[in-house]
Amino acid sequence: MPELPEVETIRRQLAPRVVGATLTEIDVRDPRWCAPLDPLALRDALEGRRVEALGRRGKYFDLELEDEVHLLIHLRMTGTLLYRPDGEVPHTRVLFAFDGAGRVAFADPRRFGTGELAIGHEALEEFFAARLGVEPFDDAFTGAALRARARGRRGPIKPFLLDQRTVAGVGNIYADEALFRAGVHPLRPAGSLRPVQYARLRDAVRESLEAGIAARGASIDDFRDIDGARGSFQDRFLVHLREGEPCTVCGTEIRKTVVGGRGTYVCVRCQPPPRRRRTGA
Ligand SMILES: [Zn+2]
Repeated sequence: MPELPEVETIRRQLAPRVVGATLTEIDVRDPRWCAPLDPLALRDALEGRRVEALGRRGKYFDLELEDEVHLLIHLRMTGTLLYRPDGEVPHTRVLFAFDGAGRVAFADPRRFGTGELAIGHEALEEFFAARLGVEPFDDAFTGAALRARARGRRGPIKPFLLDQRTVAGVGNIYADEALFRAGVHPLRPAGSLRPVQYARLRDAVRESLEAGIAARGASIDDFRDIDGARGSFQDRFLVHLREGEPCTVCGTEIRKTVVGGRGTYVCVRCQPPPRRRRTGA
């Protein structure tokens, strides 16, 4: 499932090719992609407008067109954007055509990806405010901010990190990697860390995401970049998917467990488990 580094990898590749071009056609072949919006309404709003920017917020692409018209694209489970001047791409749900910049296919075998519209700066702010917390590379993302949000929370820290309203863009891979780097066990109650640990976790989230971006994303399932190439971050995981292998820091065998329904990888020496809770607590 694409997370921030995978989305950012695509954004960096695609932006130079489409910014400045005019979106001449958006062919929505699967209306579920933009439901409840009618594909015809989407065409009316978008077609014929110049692309001003291709931004990213959390795991969303923000395709900004003339007159503050924003198309917000989310890849969800298996979505990908492929740059293909010609030729048919399997599982294409939406096809974009840009004048002088070729075509881009939104391919998505499992069909969970979405396209939504926000017109005007205010609508855009509202859209993100309702869905996303702080951006991890923003100055507002600090150890103190993380600590303030976690205060009083007894649920485990990993699902807390996966909540997009805590910090935008972190998914299962990067949560595991960040918790390992910070030396925090994923089952620790979110509100129970020491101040220095929140600061460490904040740094670890950034470092993990930066490492993912530098490796052009992780291709453990469907992720491909816009030219169909795989990322290489899966070869550099510190704990994720490394069950049974030695910890790169201490040599202890990495274990797999399940936290909040998600496969989770830990080094129990580097990430000491929380003390047993009292019965009924
Ligand atoms: Zn270790």
